[in-house]
Amino acid sequence: MNKYKTQLKGLTLEELQSLFLEMGEAKFRALQVFNWMYNFRVTSFDKMENLSKPLRAKLKENYSLITLNFASSELSAGGTKKLIFETADGNKIESVIIPDEKRNTLCISTQVGCPLDCKFCATGLMGYKKNLSAGEIFDQYLLAQQHTERDITNIVYMGMGEPLLNYNATLNSLKIFAEALTKGITLKKTIVSTSGIAPKIIELADTGLKPKLALSLHSCFEKTRSKIMPINEKYSLKENLEAVAYYAMKTKTRITFEYIMLKGLNDRDEDIKALIKLTNQIPSKINVIPFNSLQHMHPTGFSASLFPTEKNRIEAFVQKLRDNDVTVMIRDTQGDDIAAACGQLALKFK
Ligand code: SF4
Repeated sequence: MNKYKTQLKGLTLEELQSLFLEMGEAKFRALQVFNWMYNFRVTSFDKMENLSKPLRAKLKENYSLITLNFASSELSAGGTKKLIFETADGNKIESVIIPDEKRNTLCISTQVGCPLDCKFCATGLMGYKKNLSAGEIFDQYLLAQQHTERDITNIVYMGMGEPLLNYNATLNSLKIFAEALTKGITLKKTIVSTSGIAPKIIELADTGLKPKLALSLHSCFEKTRSKIMPINEKYSLKENLEAVAYYAMKTKTRITFEYIMLKGLNDRDEDIKALIKLTNQIPSKINVIPFNSLQHMHPTGFSASLFPTEKNRIEAFVQKLRDNDVTVMIRDTQGDDIAAACGQLALKFK
């Protein structure tokens, strides 16, 4: 992999068109290269047969098509597959393929590590190394497809990192998925999950792209949420709820509120009441996530006080929500045997 050539992968159709015009080439060349890169998934300019030899040579000299190399994979008993890729500068990132009867979902990363410090999250414990480029984000999809027999049907931006803190690269990757030319995935099948970067939620709403949005909620109370997610001190729950209400209105989509069940902290009757009130105000559903304990990582501080809510309490909690007409799903914790379940990515790097 050449570290010094400019990455072509990650450019949107519009950016490719500008680039080819700047190079003195015809605009339609951009369309051809877009197809080769993102639909035919070639990793060598030599294979772009409808380009002239001199153009192929020019591209080869200045640009690279390879952003990530496959490093290894692990398969869980339930079929979840964790893929580890290496960036050109030697960082490792993870993507996870989660098959079920109807879908074959890919969870992708947007950063190496994460600068936020959500107290339930193994990636947060790892610290932050760098933002991924749009090419590195999109390439996880192209490469993952080589490691699963079924077509990938859905993409979730829920792997390592906070996508809205790497906004431009995340946006470019969404634009590539959104482009009518791109086969396979549409933004209706894509979820961007955020810890709550309110101004960027508004910005994303105004792009008109309309991926589905998930907010890591975890508590309806400011003080408790700040303890679980320190980013709440910067962008309050109030601000984020206003932002997601705007997002739902602007995109005509339903927000998913993610809710990790933490014993004694957010699984009380008053939490149920607050969730009922919230979901009455914003078109939304709740995704209840059993907590994968971090105790074996010997966490310190507030993380050390977090324990999973018992299964029967989760069931009662969910039932009460459903009795009050709240749409709620319990997320399967597939993949916890290979550290690929929610909040576990990066465990093995510690
Ligand atoms: S939950 Fe997401 S935003 Fe929070 S620390 Fe983990 S990766 Fe970062």
